Amino acid sequence: MSDIRTLIMALPHPFILIDETERISVTNAPAKHLIGMNCDGLPYITALRQPALIEAVEATLKDASLRIVRYLGNDGARDTTWTVTVTAVTLRDGVTVVLSFQDMSVVEDANDMRRDFVANVSHELRTPLTSLLGFIETLRGSASNDRAAQTRFLGIMKQEAARMHSLVEDLMSLNRVEGQERIKPTMRTDLCALINDVLVAIKPRADDAGVGLISDHPMDAVYVLADREQMWQVIANLVENAIKYGSKNGVHTGKVTVQLSLPTYEPVLLQSGVRLSVIDQGEGIAAHHLARLTQRFYRIDTHRSREVGGTGLGLAIVKHIINRHRGRLHIFSVVGQGTEFRVILPALMDGPLI
Ligand code: ADP
Repeated sequence: MSDIRTLIMALPHPFILIDETERISVTNAPAKHLIGMNCDGLPYITALRQPALIEAVEATLKDASLRIVRYLGNDGARDTTWTVTVTAVTLRDGVTVVLSFQDMSVVEDANDMRRDFVANVSHELRTPLTSLLGFIETLRGSASNDRAAQTRFLGIMKQEAARMHSLVEDLMSLNRVEGQERIKPTMRTDLCALINDVLVAIKPRADDAGVGLISDHPMDAVYVLADREQMWQVIANLVENAIKYGSKNGVHTGKVTVQLSLPTYEPVLLQSGVRLSVIDQGEGIAAHHLARLTQRFYRIDTHRSREVGGTGLGLAIVKHIINRHRGRLHIFSVVGQGTEFRVILPALMDGPLI
C-alpha cells in the first residue's frame, strides 16, 4: 500500500481511495484542497457531501462497476467543475474504491463563453432585423401610397441593413484574426508609412466630423514585423473610435493625434519595442470600464455605439491582432480630459535604439 500511496501523492489531479470500511484511506494534496484538509479516515458520506458522487461510490462498493459523475467544487476564487471516475480495484487489504478527478472547468468556461457569444450575436442581429421586418410591413400596408414616408423609411432600412452588414463583416474579421493568432507575422513593415496611409484614408470621415488628424512620428522609417493589413485595421479602428467617441458633451474637441516612438527598451516585452499611441481629448473613460473594453460586445453606452455605427467588436479585434504580433495594449484615460490607446510592438532589432 505504501508504494501506491507514494504514487497517488505524486499525481497532479485529485485522487481518493475508499476502503472496505467505507472510509477515506488515501487522499493526495489536490484532493484535500478540493474536499477538505481533514478528510483522511472520515466515512466517505461525510467527506464527499455531494449526493451524485455518494450514490456512485455506494453502488460501486456493491457491484464493482465503473461510474462517471460530475462534482462541483470551489477553489476559493471561483466555482470549479470536475468529472469523477469511480472504479473498484481489489488490493491486498480488500476491495478499494478509487476516485479520480478530472478538471472540466476550462471546458465549461469555454462552453459558457460560446453560449454568451451566440446569445450576443443573435441579439445584435435581431434588433435591426426586427426593425427591417416592421418597416417592410408598414411599406406594404399603411405607407403604401405615402411617398414621403416611403423615402424616410427606406433611409432607416438602409441604415439598419448597413448595421447588420458591419456586424457580419466584424464577426468574420474576428474569426479570421482568432484563427491566425498563433501564426507569427513575418512582413517587415514601416509603421510611419502605414500611419500616413491610414490617416489619408480616414481623412474624409474626420473632415465630416470636424476633427483634425495629427501625426507625430519620427522622420525615419520605424520597422516592425507585422501583417500590414491587420496593423492597418488596428490603427484605423483606434483612430475611428477617437473620432466617434472623442467628443466632450457632444462637441468634438477637434484633434486626434497618432504618435509613434523610436525603438526603446520596453520592460513589458523584455526587449526593444515601439509605442504607437492614438490620443483624443474627449470625455474620457471611467476606470472601472477599462479592463473590459476589449471584451466582445462590451460598450460603455450601447445606444451611443449603435448611433455612431459601432458593433462592439472593434477593440476585441484590435486586441487579438496585437496578441498575434506579441504586443501589448494599454489604455490610459482621465474622465473629462481624454484617452490614450497605446500599442507596444516588438521592434526589429536592426532599427536605431535609444
Ligand atoms: P464599438 O463598435 O462600439 O465602437 P469598440 O470595441 O471599438 O466597439 O469599442 C468598445 C467601446 O469602448 C465603445 O462602445 C465605447 O464605449 C468605448 N470607446 C472606444 N474608444 C473610445 C474612446 N476613444 N473614447 C471613449 N470611449 C471609447
